[in-house]
Amino acid sequence: MAYIKLDKSALFHNLDLITQRAGGKEKVVAVLKDNAYGHGLELMAKMLQEYGITKAVVRTRAEAERIAGFLSDIIILADTPQADGFSYAINDIEQLRNTPQGAKIELKVDSGMHRNGIRVEELEEAFGLIQDRRAELVGVFTHFRSADELSGELFWQVENWKEIKEKVRKLCEEYGIPQPRLHSANSATLFRYGVMDDFARVGIAMYGYLEIDAIFDQPPLRPVLSLWARRIASRRLAEGERVGYGGIFAANEPMEISTYDVGYADGIFRALRSCAGGEILGRVSMDSLSLAGRADEVCIIEDAKEMAHQLGTISYEVLVKLSPQIPRVVT
Ligand SMILES: *Cc1c(COP(=O)(O)O)cnc(C)c1O
Repeated sequence: MAYIKLDKSALFHNLDLITQRAGGKEKVVAVLKDNAYGHGLELMAKMLQEYGITKAVVRTRAEAERIAGFLSDIIILADTPQADGFSYAINDIEQLRNTPQGAKIELKVDSGMHRNGIRVEELEEAFGLIQDRRAELVGVFTHFRSADELSGELFWQVENWKEIKEKVRKLCEEYGIPQPRLHSANSATLFRYGVMDDFARVGIAMYGYLEIDAIFDQPPLRPVLSLWARRIASRRLAEGERVGYGGIFAANEPMEISTYDVGYADGIFRALRSCAGGEILGRVSMDSLSLAGRADEVCIIEDAKEMAHQLGTISYEVLVKLSPQIPRVVT
């Protein structure tokens, strides 16, 4: 079967760049949501533990449970808060009304993205609810919508965030609540601007990519993941013979081709015309694709950004689509 290699030295190299920029290992939270951006949740958590990272962000409680043995401080982005030791993001005021006693919460405040988080005007009400519900306010955070683009937008949102932090500080004093930890930066913000708060939530840069406008300095990150496929079968095509569904590829001359055991069921999109191993001959099938030659093993993804570019999307999307069923090995 096709398999994924995770390059530990590339990961540690990226983490060196990230922790240097952030000012220490304790200033970095590893974002491991969605099977660690398709890399494999447990394997990534284990390597992060070895490196000395202790904090992580995941999407669900189920993901948090899978890595609790490796990382001690876990924030869950979108699940129902419970008093179980994990810290739950609160994404709107309604959620706070149902928070059970003793739950740890990470209050998200909307600083301009208008996606998740309570509105600034709801802060006071939120503090009242936190007190009533006897929840534990562990952190307050926000997310920026344009950290990756060259515009004044990030600065406008950072200004909003500064006001939010000031309001939070005062409300904590008023309510006699310990000051929570504060965080806002993702990968793009970290490399463009710095951490600004207690830590940065770093996803894509850790995996070796940064989707920021070309005008910004690109740190020398290295892709951690590569996808490899094994040969299923080989055959010789005569001139004019066509390959695969719809026969969209025709051989101009006699040639040898092979099928490899990776397809769109694994996350290799049907629209793809080439991969790291060369031109894809004909359409990608559910469980296989065809390439010229007869190498026993070929690299399908070396740089997810290249594949993303072909598909008109970003590295994140290509990576998270890789099936969790593909075996992963650390090299
Ligand atoms: C996914 C996510 C991140 C990480 O963003 P990157 O661009 O991958 O660094 C940070 N914070 C939140 C809230 C997220 O959902």
